[in-house]
Amino acid sequence: MSIVVQKYGGSSVASPDKIRLVAKRIVETKKQGHDVVVVVSAMGSTTDELLKNANAVSNAPSRRELDMLLSCGERASMALLSMAVINLGYEAISFTGSQAGVMTNDRHSDASIIEVRPVRVQDELSRGKVVIVAGFQGVSYKREITTLGRGGSDTTAVALAAALSAEYCEICSDVDGVYTADPRVVSAAQLLDGLSHEEMIESAAHGAKVLHAEAVEFARLSGIALYARATTGSGRGTRIDNAATAGSFVVSSLSPVCMVATDSRFAKSVFEELSSLQAEVLFAISSDATRIFCCLKDSPNPSQLQSDISKIENVEFMGDLAAVSVTSVGSGKAPHAMSELLALAEPEAVATMMTPNRRTVVSPLAQASILAEKMHSLMLGSKH
Ligand code: ASP
Ligand code: MG
Repeated sequence: MSIVVQKYGGSSVASPDKIRLVAKRIVETKKQGHDVVVVVSAMGSTTDELLKNANAVSNAPSRRELDMLLSCGERASMALLSMAVINLGYEAISFTGSQAGVMTNDRHSDASIIEVRPVRVQDELSRGKVVIVAGFQGVSYKREITTLGRGGSDTTAVALAAALSAEYCEICSDVDGVYTADPRVVSAAQLLDGLSHEEMIESAAHGAKVLHAEAVEFARLSGIALYARATTGSGRGTRIDNAATAGSFVVSSLSPVCMVATDSRFAKSVFEELSSLQAEVLFAISSDATRIFCCLKDSPNPSQLQSDISKIENVEFMGDLAAVSVTSVGSGKAPHAMSELLALAEPEAVATMMTPNRRTVVSPLAQASILAEKMHSLMLGSKH
């Protein structure tokens, strides 16, 4: 029988009523003749609240204890969802990440999945049960409970889908799919029918929030097709697979970011300093071989990062910036479109970066949404 993996995000299981709706949706899929494995997130803002409590009892909560605490969020929702499915007359069983065979490294609070050994999941499926697995968590080879980093339930779902050779993996949330831009920023944004893993990874890494980039990377490596869909309603959603979709694009933005400029003679030491600050480089460009510009994703604490960077010798710092990107695989084959975009971005641009699959314009934060609108309408225009 074909296996389908469904993942439900925190807002879809935020209350007992919503959990009952999700249980009905699961039963519908079961009735269509599939074996169903479900991955759940913690209810609503549970993870944030647990984190708040941790910070209220400790200035620097132990990462191991944080994992023990945060993994409870998903444990509660998996048990409630299983009860709700059983209440509809179907057999179900819930498993923690550890019970489901999700093996990770031992990097607490930000672990990576190394392999999935879903023996118990397969046993219960063969008994006809719906299997419900807690997302975002696993167990290390030292038998310690770990969590995967914020938003990590998507990754659990895809990793399980790959280990079970599922037909597809559905990521269900309160958003009905992937749009050509964030509809809250760009009013003309359109829902996409489909896009490739590669396009989704690029746009997620540059600010598109629907899916976790790491989860899509997993899907790409294992060839799993993903659907981003709304939990309620009958929308088809967006299919993400390994087929390139001609002419599709996504405008995304990442903010705040900052830029660091230095003379190329100092590049080595500046980069060493930046890595000791654990700053994440979005891209680096050198202009006329004398200056290096480096665009950094801002840390959770931008003012701290700014003051740390200002202590590095020989650097110039620019803050309060946004990086607006158009991801469009294969656009390198249409250089004229690139030049139009350059011309359009020029008045606002602090820096631009072009690769065959993506064009990124760094602009002052205040101009970012106007720029996203403009880039989006240029792309829409060139498509038709
Ligand atoms: N509950 C976790 C979080 O809020 C994991 C997830 O929802 O994917 O980050
Ligand atoms: Mg999430």
